[in-house]
Amino acid sequence: MSGLPYIGTALGNLFRKPNTMKFPVGDAPAAQPGYRGKIAYDPNKCINCGMCIRVCAPQAITREIKNLENGDQEITFTFDMTSCTFCGTCADFCSQHTITMTDDYMIVGTKPEDFLVGGTFIKKKPAAPKFTPEQIAAMKAAAEAKKRHAAPGAGAAPGANPEAPAAAEAEKPAAPAPAKKAEEPAAEKEAKDAD
Ligand code: SF4
Ligand code: SF4
Repeated sequence: MSGLPYIGTALGNLFRKPNTMKFPVGDAPAAQPGYRGKIAYDPNKCINCGMCIRVCAPQAITREIKNLENGDQEITFTFDMTSCTFCGTCADFCSQHTITMTDDYMIVGTKPEDFLVGGTFIKKKPAAPKFTPEQIAAMKAAAEAKKRHAAPGAGAAPGANPEAPAAAEAEKPAAPAPAKKAEEPAAEKEAKDAD
């Protein structure tokens, strides 16, 4: 019987308008300015620097690299919204403005793939450098010189006089002569002479 006082309120609520809105009927209300919602990633701008992966604390970003037969690479970035904390750090650190935090808060789904955001791009194999015969000869000479310099016992400059060490030795100042033995005392000398 203690619930009776609320019966009037309960019956009254049956005829009042609800305080909540029906959802998702109609357009969803816009998020407030600056809201950080679902991530958007533009693979066409990405330079594969990996900075976003490094700064993401919950490790919500993964990168898959597939080597193609022609030498190119297929690179796929995936952002997992179930791990993301929507901190926005990856977007702040992306120098190419590849990542943006949209105002989309309608992140709903029925399977794990529904919560993944990402994209794929192809990284072209760099073209082989082309050098002139003169450049190749110069590079070979530089490599040879480096090898000679690194060899044990190397150190003398090419063209240096091989007898230079001997000459340098000869020019060294002579070592001082050993000190003369001190003379015997006169008394001892006389005694010896008398014998
Ligand atoms: S920081 Fe930006 S450019 Fe660098 S890998 Fe991430 S999305 Fe690509
Ligand atoms: S918004 Fe934050 S948590 Fe989400 S992917 Fe970017 S760095 Fe990671």
